[in-house]
Amino acid sequence: MRWMMVMLLVGMTWWHLRAEPTYVCQRTRSAIIVDGRLEEIAWQRAKPLSPMRDLSGAPAQYQAAIYMTYDAQYLYIAARLPEKNLTATLTERDSIIYRDDDFEVFIDPTCTGTNYLELEINQLNTVWDLFITAPYREGARCIALHDWDIKGLKTAVTLQGTLNDGVANDQSWTVEIAWPWASITGHSELPRRGAAPAPGTEMRFNFSRVDHKGGVETNTVWAPTRQATIHAPEHWGRVCFSGNEVGTPESFPAKVGLWVHGNDKALTEDTVKLWADAGITTLVIDGSSEAIARISAWGKAAGLECVAWFWTLNRPEDTEALKHPHWYAVSAEGKSCFKEADRPFVAYYQFLCPSHPEVRAYLRRKVVEIASIPTVDAVQLDYIRQPDVVLPKALWANYGVDMQTILPAYDFCYCPQCVQQFGSTPSATSPAWRDFRLQAVAETANWLAEAVRNSGKRCGAAVFPTPPMAASMVYQDWSRFQLDFAFPMVYASFYGEENAWILERVREGQQQIAGRFPIFPGLHLPDFGDDFTSMVSALLAINPEGLCLFSHETFTPERRAQLRSALSNAAERVK
Ligand SMILES: [Zn+2]
Repeated sequence: MRWMMVMLLVGMTWWHLRAEPTYVCQRTRSAIIVDGRLEEIAWQRAKPLSPMRDLSGAPAQYQAAIYMTYDAQYLYIAARLPEKNLTATLTERDSIIYRDDDFEVFIDPTCTGTNYLELEINQLNTVWDLFITAPYREGARCIALHDWDIKGLKTAVTLQGTLNDGVANDQSWTVEIAWPWASITGHSELPRRGAAPAPGTEMRFNFSRVDHKGGVETNTVWAPTRQATIHAPEHWGRVCFSGNEVGTPESFPAKVGLWVHGNDKALTEDTVKLWADAGITTLVIDGSSEAIARISAWGKAAGLECVAWFWTLNRPEDTEALKHPHWYAVSAEGKSCFKEADRPFVAYYQFLCPSHPEVRAYLRRKVVEIASIPTVDAVQLDYIRQPDVVLPKALWANYGVDMQTILPAYDFCYCPQCVQQFGSTPSATSPAWRDFRLQAVAETANWLAEAVRNSGKRCGAAVFPTPPMAASMVYQDWSRFQLDFAFPMVYASFYGEENAWILERVREGQQQIAGRFPIFPGLHLPDFGDDFTSMVSALLAINPEGLCLFSHETFTPERRAQLRSALSNAAERVK
């Protein structure tokens, strides 16, 4: 039951079909000092990996209690190895460490069985690190780079006993490792170079201890390879990275977000409690910093996760931005969002240029300000896009436009900054120019997400239904975004579509993102009636991480009751 819950949260419902061991590595927000003493709260809270086996899978004579956690910079590994007779001789880095008793870590960050990393360490804290291009059985394809070093690696060993005294009265040795993400995900094969993995990311690991007793070498591992070597990455264990703080339960129910317009004066702490009772787990709050702080404090008091909703590139009535006319996005017709008369569709479309360095610096400052509110757990980037070059179909009539082709009046950002960076004359139909603008938006998103993570918070975005739709409608290819989560706004009525369309778009989005971060599909509450319960159930069946609801004004008592019933049905199904 509990294991099933873990799988639901990490969205890996197929895990139970797998023979290899698995582990959910949770994040730490408190510091870890690499001194081999494991006194940090994170190590007290982290769960150990499953017991070690011998290579064949049989129960092992030797054991190690292994723990993992991570933060933005490092993957942390700790191990306590019971040992009666502490013995070590090798002191030179990159010696063949397994000739001593050792502890070994193997990481296949891409789960491809190629380009994997190995670290061996002995009781003298001597390290051998190597990069291996393919398993040894592949002959010439296997190159083991002994000269490769894990840049910034920190290791420490403490001994519970006396080294090399030849007396079998020792207790154990303890290893603590901080392995920089820059040296795990830092090679070109990997999509997230140098960054901590997004929640939901999976990597393959193995751990091993080598013991030499009475002339016999024993190899004990976490994931049995069922052959004479550990160099069979296809049999290694699976580690899934969770965004949850180390020690918190990875529990059902799924997350259910509610978009909240924070400037609504009618909101009270009791309203927030009603939402929590209905099964809402997460508030996504917009409005002034004061409103976000006030409502998120109520949210925290009700046990809810609180996400600040940040208007990113569309900044209506931003008095500071309005002092800089050259910050604003410009259409193919040369009209700027700065001037009210020139704005596309509506007066509040006050879009900034995604490429301008001053714009990025300004937004970074604003987003960090919002992320720094103590009761805010994460930030959602909204309007991280250009104005609609193609509006959702059902809205064409409202604005009297036919958007089957790209209309220059709605096609942004042709500002001098962008044109100069692009380096040649833009043409609406040029794939390179399209890609330049997709990249400009993605880079702004990633730059801001990094700033939010550096403030110790998570960062997500509200996005159009699927990456290809978002790319063609608003230059928002969110498959290029490096996020902790996304809320795809699968608002069927905007597209003249029905409920089945929602599920199809969610599946497409999942395929495009391939588990790099969880998605919480956004439902447009006014679109639903009696079908709301079945919609939530159907969505949870294909996307057990959860969903999000837009917005609080239409989260009526009837919808609350329907949500409660859909969530309790889902919980029943899990049992
Ligand atoms: Zn521009």
